[in-house]
Amino acid sequence: MATLAEVLNERVHEAELYERRPDGWVRCVACGHACRIPDGAVGVCKVRFNRGGTLFAPWGYVAGAHCDPIEKKPFFHAWPGSLAFSFGMLGCDLHCAYCQNWVTSQALRDPQAVSPPADVTPERLVAEAVRLGARSVVSTYNEPLITSEWAVGVFRAARAAGLATGFVSNGNGTPEVLRYLAPWVDLYKVDLKSFDDKHYRRLGGRLQPILDTIRGLHACGTWVEIVTLVVPGFNDSDEEIRALAAFIAGVSPDIPWHVTAFHPDYKMSDTPPTTPGMLARAASLGREAGLRFVYAGNLPGRVGRMEDTTCPACGTVLVERRGYVVERYALTERGTCPTCGTAAPGRWDGVVRGRRDTHPERTRIRSWSLLDMS
Ligand code: SF4
Repeated sequence: MATLAEVLNERVHEAELYERRPDGWVRCVACGHACRIPDGAVGVCKVRFNRGGTLFAPWGYVAGAHCDPIEKKPFFHAWPGSLAFSFGMLGCDLHCAYCQNWVTSQALRDPQAVSPPADVTPERLVAEAVRLGARSVVSTYNEPLITSEWAVGVFRAARAAGLATGFVSNGNGTPEVLRYLAPWVDLYKVDLKSFDDKHYRRLGGRLQPILDTIRGLHACGTWVEIVTLVVPGFNDSDEEIRALAAFIAGVSPDIPWHVTAFHPDYKMSDTPPTTPGMLARAASLGREAGLRFVYAGNLPGRVGRMEDTTCPACGTVLVERRGYVVERYALTERGTCPTCGTAAPGRWDGVVRGRRDTHPERTRIRSWSLLDMS
């Protein structure tokens, strides 16, 4: 029986994000590792490989696809209450011990992680997104940077169908991949996991490429939201939280920052969960640093008003949320505060999607299943 790696090695295209070397080696530039790969070898992510001096990258399958509330990505400042058709391949360039998507992200490293691929075309995925009423198509579940060519293939079809596009990513990018993605990606969520390079090295990465990615995305006009999973004993010191918030505010105080609660998972089942008090403390340090939109996530209904968007000028509640559900939407069609007229940063299209009676979780729109493709 073929191994998972053998199955995936048949589902590839020549990569676009690489340089050939005269000695048969290649240099991949899809993520911050910038692997130099000899003939016959794989990169750190284990899904891109050099065969005969050509770099191959995943193509033509998904390991998961679901129609989710866009708040689940999370994007809070992009078409609230809409559906985000979400798809993912396999593999990751990091190996976080607390990964909550480890079944897909670590499929090629961990024999416990089994998530078989299903063959599909970009057009077929987008047809499902349109059929289900999605507003956007989002590459997520695994690390999308390492499968950027496939994501752009899907996004070309999505744009042709009038849909927006998004990445849910660890942000371990390169200037080359950001230039490649810029024309095709409307929304980009970055997981900023720590502000300590030593911590990042424990996860298999480095801090600097992530900081450069956030600056680069903002500079080219992509809508960016940032998530920090607050993990007790790992990144929750006041000093580190202040440094994270100061960095984001230095790029732009309008970037939404989601501080979210850790639940024991994968190889960190002994670490206690993040409490509402810890999130409140982190959010307060974020506001002190000058951030205008700070949210507390993963503890719906337990964090007071920290799931809501409020006008930074007058305090009016603009979007009231509970978990992924938009309870009330008060922005004007132009995306401004109805009380004082201040513009809210983000992507709004004048359509109020977040009413309680029209929200996907309230009306229970069926999740799309891979079985529907057969
Ligand atoms: S995507 Fe990253 S980890 Fe994978 S081969 Fe390219 S540079 Fe290396």
